[in-house]
Amino acid sequence: MIRLLVTSPLSPDFALPLDDGQSRYLTQVMRKGVGDEVLAFNGADGEWRCVIEQIGKRFVILRTQAQTRPQTPMPDLILLIALIKRGRLETVVEKASELGAAEVWPVVTERASVERAREDRLRLIANEAAEQTGRLNTPDIRPTLKLDKVLGDWDKTWPLGRRLLFCDEAGDAGMAADVLARERAGPWAILIGPEGGFSPGERARLRALPFTVPVSLGPRILRADTAAISAMTLWQAALGDWTSGV
Ligand code: SAH
Repeated sequence: MIRLLVTSPLSPDFALPLDDGQSRYLTQVMRKGVGDEVLAFNGADGEWRCVIEQIGKRFVILRTQAQTRPQTPMPDLILLIALIKRGRLETVVEKASELGAAEVWPVVTERASVERAREDRLRLIANEAAEQTGRLNTPDIRPTLKLDKVLGDWDKTWPLGRRLLFCDEAGDAGMAADVLARERAGPWAILIGPEGGFSPGERARLRALPFTVPVSLGPRILRADTAAISAMTLWQAALGDWTSGV
């Protein structure tokens, strides 16, 4: 069934208007009509089965029927991704949404290939992936920041602490799966560098930080998108919601 990320609150017997894009998608692309059912979620109220109640000129009105899934917490995982080429960055955002990242922070590093990310387009990609993947929320795509600033503000941003899985291609760190097996769940972030890798200065600074956990992603050099997918997968399997929790 079609799932839509909406901004309205979701409660019993509630009429919610869809935005222009979603209305067109439902009626023109998916050829849905009055009486057809869709699922709606908003990141706070769980998932609700809704029926198309009215199709106006400019927008569709849904009526909530019943809650299908309660809102449940997601693992507290943030992905810090260096600015890589646009196509691959878009892939990383889509995979981060599927793999359950709570937030994606595009960061500028010394060897980043581009200066800016188009956050609005990335948000759209993250939201569509969240609808497809069955999440009850969507990752927050943060404004692009310099890595130096993110690291400098770390303790202020996360006063209760957050460990940083530093995916270091230098190859002298412990294997990610072994390292993560010894770690505990909680607030984590994963850092993936750009096509050009981390500079010696960046590596030295990162290794010296108390909240950093350097890891290797195996004996081969992975492209940044592959590395991001692999690291998120390993983290979910070790500390996230890809475990039976026993
Ligand atoms: N140009 C660099 C590779 C950068 S790969 C070089 O040839 O050395 C882009 C990013 O993916 C890296 O900065 C790192 O964060 C991650 N990555 C790729 N392969 C990795 C590996 N084997 N171990 C740890 N991280 C890796």
